[in-house]
Amino acid sequence: MELNAFTNLLTEKRVFIGFDRDGTLVPYADHPDEAFLDECVKMQLEKLSLLPNVTVAIISARSIAQLGRDMHGSADRLILAGNYGLEISFPDHSEFLHPDAVRLKKTLRKLKLELFKRLPPLGSVIIEDHGLSLCVHYHRAEVSERREIIQAVTTFAKLYPELTFINLATSFEIMPARNWNKGSALDIIESKVGFDQDDWSLLYFGDSISDEPAFSWINNRGGISVRIGEAKMTESSIQMKSCSDLIGLLNMAIK
Ligand SMILES: [Mg+2]
Repeated sequence: MELNAFTNLLTEKRVFIGFDRDGTLVPYADHPDEAFLDECVKMQLEKLSLLPNVTVAIISARSIAQLGRDMHGSADRLILAGNYGLEISFPDHSEFLHPDAVRLKKTLRKLKLELFKRLPPLGSVIIEDHGLSLCVHYHRAEVSERREIIQAVTTFAKLYPELTFINLATSFEIMPARNWNKGSALDIIESKVGFDQDDWSLLYFGDSISDEPAFSWINNRGGISVRIGEAKMTESSIQMKSCSDLIGLLNMAIK
């Protein structure tokens, strides 16, 4: 996205800017625990959220607790949508919690214990618990080990029909709700904030296939969607090369 387009957008009457976290605001690390939000990026998000016409949201697979730690001290200025928006906190301290996420919490815990027993002997996996969803990363596993890991997770998918298993490039996302994605999170945010198309300019930054529903959602409302990284297939209206280009844009636009 060009600097001019971004700074012009910030002068609009009402502006919504949604960001994905990992791969968008925070560069990927080999282990998810090593991917921190840079203090400067945090400061830029704070400054954005202080603009009276701008509403900022972070919509991530991570938990609200993690997003809150990222934004410590100013978390309540932003909309934080964790676990793909299964949990959302708003600046007025109201919250949304998906009923299936509550209903299936114990089921998800049980699956987590079984995954910990079954998967590590097959290869190097990281089982990330986001509270309301799980993520199994297998990018560290040898290519020869991956097939067995995928097969094992697929077997669990059959044993746990109430949970939704989404196979991404080198990970599985495991969710308690059906047909739930970042577009659904934006539906909830819209129902709370009430985007009136004449008043609002909408912008969303994301980097992966899990952001595609958010891109479509934003496009359908005449907004601008930006995908970070080089994707061959994307619904986004604009592409930016890397996280650091986005961070550079924020640094230049927000003094
Ligand atoms: Mg991402």
